[in-house]
Amino acid sequence: MHLPFCAAKCHYCDFYSIAAEGQDVDGTVDAVLLEAARRAPRAPRTVFFGGGTPSLLSIEQLTRLLDGLESITGFRESSVETTLESNPESMDREKAEALRALGVGRLSIGFQSLEPATLELFGRVHGVEDSFRAFEAARAGGFEEINVDLIYAAPGHSPERWAVDLPHVLALGPRHVSAYALAFEEETLFSKWLAEGRLEAQPEERELELFEQTHAILAAHGFDSYEVSNFAPKGHECRHNLNYWANGAYCGIGPSAVSHIAGRRAGNHKALAPWRKAVQAGKSAEAWDERLDPRGRLGESWWLGLRLRAGVDPAALRELAGWTAPEDPALAVARPLLEEGLLEEVDGRIRLSAAGLPLADAISLAFLA
Ligand code: SF4
Repeated sequence: MHLPFCAAKCHYCDFYSIAAEGQDVDGTVDAVLLEAARRAPRAPRTVFFGGGTPSLLSIEQLTRLLDGLESITGFRESSVETTLESNPESMDREKAEALRALGVGRLSIGFQSLEPATLELFGRVHGVEDSFRAFEAARAGGFEEINVDLIYAAPGHSPERWAVDLPHVLALGPRHVSAYALAFEEETLFSKWLAEGRLEAQPEERELELFEQTHAILAAHGFDSYEVSNFAPKGHECRHNLNYWANGAYCGIGPSAVSHIAGRRAGNHKALAPWRKAVQAGKSAEAWDERLDPRGRLGESWWLGLRLRAGVDPAALRELAGWTAPEDPALAVARPLLEEGLLEEVDGRIRLSAAGLPLADAISLAFLA
């Protein structure tokens, strides 16, 4: 469920999100519930409130949203994992307690960096101390399953600093960490600044060093790298995202939200006004859709599944994609990568090797070709 409002737009962000000031948040909650009433599956197995910054909503708005979703889907009984994304500036103990009472069991908090200058460069509206305060408030409010979002390899980021900052975050006791290398996504301020020479990306060797350091520190603290950029002690993996990487079915509600249902992928309008207009008129809010053929589905399943440490089961993916021809085109892509040592076969599954792990994006993309 995508709530697009944020305190301010971060300079690196390419999600559909807008500054909340002056926006009709109440009306958006109404429209989200209207769309959910039409499209949300009953008794969902997992629920994820993302965006955007859903924690920016007031307790009254969150109550209306979650009670409304409960009466439509009955998620409080069926969902084994209900997550809400938050940022430090909009999380306190009172809100955490309210969210727990409303059926949210897992909270994600966007720390992003422990360096004040980097937070400023990112356009974040919170300070380092706010992140720690928000974590403690969430725990005092009843959350045990807390994820921390971090970004490494920002301009100026050093392994010396990361060796101090990452353990500092882990000392809080999060149950899950998402740590991504900074990406310069198209149509963001960061990619514009990069093109203008106002920002410099980290050299590849430095990014690799920070990638390996991230994995080593988290492993030393008992966190499995169950996905290239996601880490958790056993049993605390994000089940909602595991379904996504397994190319499973899901229903996205809200502006820009993507759904994958019965082999058809579709995305809602990536702007509030046309999405809301369509929803209020009782029409489809989709801006695009695609239905892949079995070859496309097979490639996509490898592209997503290779991100998982467990890797992929080629036979299971053929069945999922409906691929019945004798030659498996994905295996034809995998063979040279196995020979090069970038992929490895373990118990009949194929996964990224230690050498392939830092090249996950490029390797998995080869399966979409
Ligand atoms: S808070 Fe998150 S969703 Fe909002 S602009 Fe920043 S990165 Fe994007």
